[in-house]
Amino acid sequence: MRFAAPSACLLAVAALTGAVADRTPRRSPWTAGEYRVLTGDFHIHTFPFSASTISPWDMVLEARHRGLDAIAITGHNETLSGKAGRWFARLIGGPVVLAGEEVHGPHYHLIAAGIERTVDWRLSAAAAIAEVHRQGGIAIAAHPTYQSWKAFEGPAMQDLDGTEVAQPIAFHPQNQTWELAEFFRRSGAAPIGSSDWHGMGPVGLCRTFLFVKDVSETGVMEAIRAHRTVVVDRGRVYGNLDLARAAGPRLWTPPPGSGILGWISGLCGVLGLLFAALAVFSKPARRW
Ligand SMILES: [Zn+2]
Ligand SMILES: [Zn+2]
Repeated sequence: MRFAAPSACLLAVAALTGAVADRTPRRSPWTAGEYRVLTGDFHIHTFPFSASTISPWDMVLEARHRGLDAIAITGHNETLSGKAGRWFARLIGGPVVLAGEEVHGPHYHLIAAGIERTVDWRLSAAAAIAEVHRQGGIAIAAHPTYQSWKAFEGPAMQDLDGTEVAQPIAFHPQNQTWELAEFFRRSGAAPIGSSDWHGMGPVGLCRTFLFVKDVSETGVMEAIRAHRTVVVDRGRVYGNLDLARAAGPRLWTPPPGSGILGWISGLCGVLGLLFAALAVFSKPARRW
């Protein structure tokens, strides 16, 4: 009994603070000159075909919740997840969802977004990019660290539409930040920030700001092709600086998280479960 009461209290506090912290923030339309500014995340994995925790339709709701206007659901070598997410987003009126695939090719990973048919993972990077373009999609180099540079040499590098310059892998060893930035500089492609979401942490942790003429799948892809994207990563700005200035201070607002209440909820939840486990497994005192 001595662990059961604190466990119940902690779990109640966790549920209450979690419910308050988890509200969807209100957002007003954001413009910069003639463009609408959208927030996007173009590298997201969903259950069950990619290693992830939530379904494509739940991801659509989660993207809304995290203030994302456009996402690409990019299953490993498959497009079913992306098409399911796109179908649901169209049904409920947004956000913009590009059906995509993360092509796990020989020595490279490539985001193919806005496609209908699965791109064969056995193709070279150049051939895979050509196939993405044939289908009307956009090709983005996924986490292009040094090991994959050779695979992108030549026409592949020239034909890329975008490259991930902000990615969770950049948060660990400093040299990987440099590798992503250097690949971006050499490629001349549009800068992209993506969370490579596999079920942990907030989706949209790394994000892309898009300057679109039209809030639609074609409008999003047109902005990436025209390099009207900006990425902000730990105080550094990648992309068109004139557009970044026009976007104003909102560009520097951190991604919506759950703040202090979210932390309290998480902490109380973990402690509550710990106390619950102690209540179950601790032996009752013997009575003689
Ligand atoms: Zn990958
Ligand atoms: Zn991935």
